[in-house]
Amino acid sequence: AEVTRFAPSPTGHLHIGGLYTAAVARALARQSGGTHVLRVEDTDRSRQVAGAAEEFSRLLGAFGLAPDEGGVAGDGAWGPYLQSERREVYLSHVRDLLRRDRAYPCFCGKELLARSAEEQRAGRSPLGYYGRWAPCRTLAPEEAARRLAAGEPYVVRFRCPYEFPGRVRFTDRIRASVTMQDNGNDIVLLKSSQEEPPLPTYHFAHVVDDHLMRVTLVVRGEEWLSSTPVHLQLHTALGFEPPAYAHLAPLMKAEGPSRRKLSKRKDPEASVDYYLSAGYPPAAVQHYLRGLANIRLMDVPTAEALASEVRLDGMRPSGPLLDLPKLHSLSREFIASLTPGELYAQLLAWAEEYDPELASVLGRHEDLALAAVATGRPEGAPARKDLERWSCFRDRYGFFFTELFGPVPAPGDDRYGGLAPELVRRIAADFAAVSPDRWFARLGELAVRHGFAPDTASWRRDPDRWAGPPRQVANVVRVALTGATRSPDLAAVAGALGRDEVVRRLTAVAG
Ligand code: GLU
Repeated sequence: AEVTRFAPSPTGHLHIGGLYTAAVARALARQSGGTHVLRVEDTDRSRQVAGAAEEFSRLLGAFGLAPDEGGVAGDGAWGPYLQSERREVYLSHVRDLLRRDRAYPCFCGKELLARSAEEQRAGRSPLGYYGRWAPCRTLAPEEAARRLAAGEPYVVRFRCPYEFPGRVRFTDRIRASVTMQDNGNDIVLLKSSQEEPPLPTYHFAHVVDDHLMRVTLVVRGEEWLSSTPVHLQLHTALGFEPPAYAHLAPLMKAEGPSRRKLSKRKDPEASVDYYLSAGYPPAAVQHYLRGLANIRLMDVPTAEALASEVRLDGMRPSGPLLDLPKLHSLSREFIASLTPGELYAQLLAWAEEYDPELASVLGRHEDLALAAVATGRPEGAPARKDLERWSCFRDRYGFFFTELFGPVPAPGDDRYGGLAPELVRRIAADFAAVSPDRWFARLGELAVRHGFAPDTASWRRDPDRWAGPPRQVANVVRVALTGATRSPDLAAVAGALGRDEVVRRLTAVAG
């Protein structure tokens, strides 16, 4: 059983790349019978955002990716899960390292550090190894104690254990064996002593937390691959057994013939708000994210994709392409697979959050909504894939609801296909007078009466789809009832609307 975690920093927004990481990490834990933890890495003061944990929990939950542990205060036995509430924990581990001389206080001010960086750039400090150059690494203990006692500001640095350049080899579950040159640095563990209590750096805090939260597999973005050697050193120095690692390649976007990394700034689809407000069903988004991880899951039905394992050995070290048309088609398929009842419930849940007017209409007319949706699911035929996301519902099915339909198109409207307004009026009046069980049988007769000659054989076979002149008669009825020249089966539409509403709309045209 794996314990995995998602460890976002609260910068204000969750991005699709983060959601992808969370989806993969959570799947790996769940499918192994393990636990998925949410930990908020808010040790950077400038990044602290009130309510961040709740916000991440809410967003993950909205996609059906809620963690098993963490996130909301008190939710789990290995917390707290907010790093800002764990400062004492980090301090005790820093003390331990200091006692064992695996860390040391560093008094170098900003100017000195800038000079060090310059030396390195100029190649005078060829190994880029701060500890070699810096005076504090070799400061005599009495001298360090004297400066501490005098109240000089300091940071605490890790004492890197080996000679440089070090070649480090470790296993990444996606890339197999990784060997890299480690330019090792005596990284900072505890930031300025002038903060009270001092804050840990990401590198240090996450190592302590991953250990204490018994994480077995770290799934995170590839940007952390190059820091993994120092993370492994920290685990060892602290006496911890390091977790396994899987570094996910970043999501890419096609730009002309080439690819580039998805940009938080330039691409609206980088933000998860985009998917929520557009109303892609959470299951379809989850399916899509799993498909990005393991391409074999992209082409199976959603239920099967969600029940299948995500496999690290099925992932490529190059970044998957964020391909929105693929998401759109998965989403269409998924919505088409729902029963009217399921569709209604999911649509309503979305509308309550993102389209309150629609939610209130749906709430008041549940039966009509079910009947409307059923017109897109003709018996004995596959459901129409006519909804890409919930925000398309108004456009496709809104006309069923009087409150959303607006005024019935007047006789001179273009949508009537250029028929004389007088003729449109007469057709509507005639049709309104016919009793519902004869509506469609009478379309042919009406067509003849108004001077269109039907080919009765094909008319009988399929009055709604026949393309001859009576089609124009049917079109008058269609536009009057739906406001559009295309719609689900007209007989089904009229049936769902009911006689009164049909007559009301036709009479509005007939004048
Ligand atoms: N807080 C880090 C980030 O936001 C997490 C990195 C990790 O998962 O170790 O990217």
